[in-house]
Amino acid sequence: MNRVAVVGAGTMGNGIAHVFAQYGWGVRLIDVSAEALESGLAAIRRNLARQVKKGTLTEAAAAGSVARIETARSLDAAVGGGIELVVEAASERPDLKFQIFRDLAAACGEDTILASNTSSISITAIAGHTTCPDRVIGMHFMNPVPIMKLVEVIRGHHTSDATMDRVMTIITALDKTPVEVNDYPGFVANRVLLPMINEAVYCVMEGVATPEAVDTVMKLGLAHPMGPLALADLIGLDVCLSILTVLHQELGDDKYRPCPLLRRMVAAGDLGRKTGRGFYSYG
Ligand code: NAD
Repeated sequence: MNRVAVVGAGTMGNGIAHVFAQYGWGVRLIDVSAEALESGLAAIRRNLARQVKKGTLTEAAAAGSVARIETARSLDAAVGGGIELVVEAASERPDLKFQIFRDLAAACGEDTILASNTSSISITAIAGHTTCPDRVIGMHFMNPVPIMKLVEVIRGHHTSDATMDRVMTIITALDKTPVEVNDYPGFVANRVLLPMINEAVYCVMEGVATPEAVDTVMKLGLAHPMGPLALADLIGLDVCLSILTVLHQELGDDKYRPCPLLRRMVAAGDLGRKTGRGFYSYG
């Protein structure tokens, strides 16, 4: 059995653990927080049960998936035991990720690939904190992980062809589509998406249209499954602001300047679905 360690059991980490376990991998799911591990496992059970209900997975396969996941509180669990890949999905804080990768590089074997699910931190910068930049790569899964087909695979400045090839093969075997992208701020998905969301917020701020009108135009006029403002509420307005800030700072172009209304809503604590209010209200 192939083995993977997933660091972080939050929204993305539990989804990544779910998919690897579903496709037969032994998974060590690691989080510093016992509550995060508990709620991460609960989310995996709930999402597998939903697949069983829809008829896309058998009960036995769902039970087998859960049985292949072990949990741990320490990064030591990512070392040894035949683990060939570590996927880091811890909180989006550069210093935290740099430390995790320093520790992993020092402890893991020379065949272990070290991947980050970061949305906005440079893979090259993360790799620069390790002694093995050739084995560091970005695996940017999309939310919700069990449903979304795409994984952006980010090649850092020193990522080797062998690392890239292995990761592309692994993702394909998870029945997802890998797309290779170079290491520039926001990669592709967020570099294209966030300016669109930002422009939608400007439309609201400038009184061009209401949030409902903006979203209806994009859904019915451009066949987007969800309007940009409803999507911003789903992602979290704080997350949108932090990705735009990275794009603005690192690319130095004012076209990425976060809309003042977005800043104001974040300052007011209206972060979208997670706080019950953003561009829309959630019961
Ligand atoms: P989250 O806040 O839901 O989960 C992060 C988890 O990391 C928490 O459970 C926290 O306890 C844990 N953690 C913090 N420090 C740790 C450590 N030292 N060791 C182990 N675990 C630690 O965050 P998320 O939304 O799942 O995001 C995780 C990563 O995925 C981020 O890099 C984010 O940018 C990226 N990402 C998020 C999305 C999204 O839609 N949420 C999409 C793509 C990528």
